[in-house]
Amino acid sequence: MPSIPVQPSHEGTVPWPADLVARYVAEGHWKGQALASRFVDAADATPNDEALTDGDFRLTYAELLSRVDGAAQRLRALGLRPDDRLLFQLPNGWEFVVLTLACFRLGVIPVMALIQHRRHELSYLAELSEARAIAVPDRVKDFDHQELAAGIAAGAETIEHVIVAGDVRDGHVDLRALCAPAPDPQAARTELDALAPDPRSVALLILSGGTTGLPKLIARTHDDYACYVDGSADAFGFVASSVYLAVLPFGHNYPLSAILGVLWAGGRVVVSPSPSARDSLGAIEAERATVTSVVPAIVVRWLEYREADQHHDLSSFEVLTLGAARLQDQLVRQISSVFGCTLQQGYGMAEGLTNLTRLDDPFDVTCDTQGRPINPADELRVVDPDGNPVPPDEQGELITRGPYTIRGYYRAPEHNERAFTPDGWYRTGDVVRLRPDGYVVVEGRTKDVINRGGEKIAAEEVESFAYQLDSVEMAASVAMPDPVLGERGCLYVVPTPGTSVELRDVIDVMETAGVARFKLPERLVIVDAMPRTPIGKIDKKVLRADIARRLEEEAA
Ligand code: AMP
Repeated sequence: MPSIPVQPSHEGTVPWPADLVARYVAEGHWKGQALASRFVDAADATPNDEALTDGDFRLTYAELLSRVDGAAQRLRALGLRPDDRLLFQLPNGWEFVVLTLACFRLGVIPVMALIQHRRHELSYLAELSEARAIAVPDRVKDFDHQELAAGIAAGAETIEHVIVAGDVRDGHVDLRALCAPAPDPQAARTELDALAPDPRSVALLILSGGTTGLPKLIARTHDDYACYVDGSADAFGFVASSVYLAVLPFGHNYPLSAILGVLWAGGRVVVSPSPSARDSLGAIEAERATVTSVVPAIVVRWLEYREADQHHDLSSFEVLTLGAARLQDQLVRQISSVFGCTLQQGYGMAEGLTNLTRLDDPFDVTCDTQGRPINPADELRVVDPDGNPVPPDEQGELITRGPYTIRGYYRAPEHNERAFTPDGWYRTGDVVRLRPDGYVVVEGRTKDVINRGGEKIAAEEVESFAYQLDSVEMAASVAMPDPVLGERGCLYVVPTPGTSVELRDVIDVMETAGVARFKLPERLVIVDAMPRTPIGKIDKKVLRADIARRLEEEAA
């Protein structure tokens, strides 16, 4: 009997139409290479160069590859196969990089949860992705992730393995032993090269910034993610001498693409001990880092620290990239002068589209815009509420499609009908201006989220918890301005007549449900009635203005 070829699974994803696939291949945006093979090529080119630095732990390219291959072999020995999902909840560190590359090598799909996630989010992600394993640290600060993971595994039918970095208990798998070098690197190499996944298959599942109750998952293929990494790496200017300080949580698109990009370029990744100014600037000095990417909430703290204390030698530092949230215009100018480096602004999304200013852009363009698309095949349109294009340089909602922008969320057909136009454009929910020179300026958003220092909180999710209280008749979660984080969550409530509501009541409901702490509302405002738009919806614009005014008055 003829053998049936094994096709990559696209189950739950929305493929690109055939004509676009042909175009992306013909134009070289999709190169037909699996993500790990790009790393293997880099490792072959400069095996003895240092690839990854995490404190005193240093790995050359050859050593990193040997650990990646060792981990891939041991994942296989655990029974994990291509297309199986591994739920990641790991802090930044060398183990994260090794395990991610091992998954890519094998075609096992990492599902990138956040370290702040708790039972509520992890159990949902485990179920949605049908994860076969979960990887966690034993503890971070006072929190026992190992116990959490054991609970998730007990409640999820599919999870067979709990993989733990640190103090391993209860028969769980030791991540550090899993990531030991391959016993026979050449044999591992031959075995794993033969297993290279199909470049069109799903490489990883990442979280959306989420307007819905719980975040949607985004399936990125090897081909499309490589296209994204190549485009960003070009704009970041990565070369073999680049030393990238990795500060942001690695499971986010923005640092993950930079880590892959710098490794493919033959450069070096340095894991920052923490995002604090002292640790990060200390690491730039100690490791002679040349480039990093952070969010405004982090750079605001670095700026204060640097202005007060100049003792770190930052002379190696060339490029500082900022994105994920809007930075106040005057700060952009201040940052370049205080750090003496080239500044780069970015605006992107886990769904795909990424814009970056270029390193040789005029200073005004760098300061006044959030960049232009990283790929010539990216399509951007700015439309009015009826979907009609607005004139150039006028505000409207950005819709987009392109070679690394998904056509639909994973296993979410109903939501996809709203989030994408019938011809496949992703509705970003961001209000932008597209300048005649092709640069994008982010002006606001139509989507109902709070951008807390780059982490997104869906208003709907917070409101749904508030509504579990009988004392809440109406609830509206809105962003309140914050000088460091940009925004924090504020909850407006109309109490049920004859009752009263405290912030603590809402927090109790959310904590009992095991919700990540960053989503908890940080202020409660009681009102008699909600302001309404002409069509009767709660007018959140009025509420946002109201809380901004209250904060200003309090500050005065
Ligand atoms: P995420 O998918 O979590 O990276 O979130 C993507 C969203 O973050 C975008 O749709 C924007 O709403 C927001 N965002 C990203 N970069 C910027 C920026 N430079 N300025 C303002 N908002 C941004």
